Amino acid sequence: MLNGPLPLDLSELDGRKFVCQDPCKLCCLCQPECLPGEVEFFKKNYPNRLVLKKEPHRHYALALKKGQGSCSFLQDGRCEVYPHRPHFCRQFPFHIHVGSRAQIELDLSCRGVWLDQGEDAMTEGLRMVQENESEIRRTLKESVPVYREFTYNCQEAGLEVDVSKVRSQVSARLDELTDLRLIATLLEESVEEDELSIPELKAKPALDAKTMNELSKSALEMVTDSMAADELFQAPVYCAPDGSWNLFRVLGPKVEWHVMSVEGDVTKRGELPIKDIRLQQPEGRDRQVLRDYLKVLNNRDSFMGYAFYLMDDYDYEDPWPNVYGGVLSTSVLDLLWRTSLLAAFFPGMKDGERMREGIIFYDMDRLDAPTLGAFI
Ligand code: SF4
Ligand code: SF4
Repeated sequence: MLNGPLPLDLSELDGRKFVCQDPCKLCCLCQPECLPGEVEFFKKNYPNRLVLKKEPHRHYALALKKGQGSCSFLQDGRCEVYPHRPHFCRQFPFHIHVGSRAQIELDLSCRGVWLDQGEDAMTEGLRMVQENESEIRRTLKESVPVYREFTYNCQEAGLEVDVSKVRSQVSARLDELTDLRLIATLLEESVEEDELSIPELKAKPALDAKTMNELSKSALEMVTDSMAADELFQAPVYCAPDGSWNLFRVLGPKVEWHVMSVEGDVTKRGELPIKDIRLQQPEGRDRQVLRDYLKVLNNRDSFMGYAFYLMDDYDYEDPWPNVYGGVLSTSVLDLLWRTSLLAAFFPGMKDGERMREGIIFYDMDRLDAPTLGAFI
């Protein structure tokens, strides 16, 4: 298989376009890794701008301003080393996930993919695959045995993991999964010992106070996990339409809002009690945007790979549909809570815009989650 046609999926790119929109520069806020072939240029010309990182593996990366701001090569909104920018920068917002096959995923935190302008994403994706084919094949040689071992472990534990079956079951209920009444049942049944059946899930009759309390509690557990950063600059970033970098941190009973400058200076803009941020049932256009996003997630190998990672982490004790159902329901809650947070700090957003901004805030962290496989 690995010498024949490349096992490849580009379906996430179908019908999408991409244009880089100034003055966003969200991608220049991440610390780009320097691949071995790229290190030489920076060692020779900018030796003080390379840092050696030990996590998650030993590698060189470009220095950040003050160790925490944007990439040190971002000057007046422009990249100083544009012709020599690392692979990561050239590729963004496309990510190549390599698991049992290669799949190109699009980072929906990039505003440039929401404008329906610019390059055809499919053409760009194909170009990227051609440019990276040997690296994709090399990584497949490593990841295919990992997937094989995962399948073997599941079989040993008596667990049936049928990816296409669970994907099509979720796909058949996408509209309903934008309803918190069904998410509440999915969440509840995902922690039971018995295997849950996605086709037979029944939505709660109503969103009563008890159900909402339970959902809010789970959402808070999720976001507290991701937003309770010890160091402020590790808090999740939301890049607003004006290009500002907004950091939100959960601190005790409050959520703090800070804005980071290009230089890495952080200014506090406000705070709200957590109890004032209420999980909302999406309606109207927001619901349609959520539905489209769930479709993307359900097809993403990195999302599936996160559920596999958890199966392994839980020692293959839980039925596969329960693990996937748990990942899906908690992801929806995390996203909806962040959407409510943005609506609370930036009131006046229109229907549809709220959910889009929530996804812009959420997707980069979603793609950053552990997965079975690797991004190249
Ligand atoms: S995040 Fe997207 S739109 Fe923003 S600078 Fe990067 S590529 Fe361009
Ligand atoms: S090298 Fe250039 S494109 Fe890459 S993160 Fe730094 S400033 Fe941005």
